[in-house]
Amino acid sequence: MKIGYYPGSFDPITFGHLDIVSRGAHLFDKLYVAVSVNPSKKTMFSDKERYDIVKEVLKDMPNVEVVLSQKLTVEHCKLLGATHILRGLRAVTDYDYEFQMTNFNRKIDHEIDTVFLMTEGQFSFLSSSSVRELAYFGGDVTPFVPEYVAKMIAQKLKK
Ligand code: ADP
Repeated sequence: MKIGYYPGSFDPITFGHLDIVSRGAHLFDKLYVAVSVNPSKKTMFSDKERYDIVKEVLKDMPNVEVVLSQKLTVEHCKLLGATHILRGLRAVTDYDYEFQMTNFNRKIDHEIDTVFLMTEGQFSFLSSSSVRELAYFGGDVTPFVPEYVAKMIAQKLKK
């Protein structure tokens, strides 16, 4: 059984992430979507909120399981039996960071490899940070995130 591991902040999950998850779910028998707990990152949604939102959005994908990750990516992969890290690539600007992370992870554990899926052109400009910024300024986020996520953003901003 081939098991993949797709890590990210998902703050919030967008249609770009969803594209990678649904294509990844075809590549692997099982795909873990790992919502990272990152104490040094200031996020719009808490760890638990991001986990709950991703879980709700992906609930109809039978071979996808959402987990919260507080461990080093490669360690968590090993623990879950995943052999591959899955990442999405939007533009050349992602490349430097991803190249560095891939080699870093490989140095820690060379058995865990990273695979990349190029985003669909229509999502290449889409990032969680631009969705957050749009939302803060009162813009319509519904073209970029599932309806449930748009609802959660609206609730969050009301508080
Ligand atoms: P991180 O903080 O770990 O980069 P993100 O949630 O921003 O977490 O992204 C997780 C992964 O999803 C990364 O591989 C990123 O490149 C990818 N990703 C983000 N947005 C898109 C998009 N619009 N299309 C394809 N991949 C994307």
